[in-house]
Amino acid sequence: MNRRRNDIRELATRIVALQAKAGALGLFTNDRELIECQKCGLLEDVIVTGQLITCRSSAFGRDTRLRFEELSQNRFRCSACGSIIHQG
Ligand SMILES: [Zn+2]
Repeated sequence: MNRRRNDIRELATRIVALQAKAGALGLFTNDRELIECQKCGLLEDVIVTGQLITCRSSAFGRDTRLRFEELSQNRFRCSACGSIIHQG
């Protein structure tokens, strides 16, 4: 019983570490909703490789190489037009 609990704790620690690593690689870890800028229409998308990109609805899936800048929890700045987006 005790051993099982330790295994689960160890697994949880590994998942957290993996999520951090995935985030650092630009992969989307599904820990929030995708962002869409209401002002200029820049939107986030996750491509088949798991990479988080931003694109325009007119060119879906084509990375603009812009990224929403995380200012604080649930607050992001659009790097295309500079407007602040409140998420969640
Ligand atoms: Zn914008």
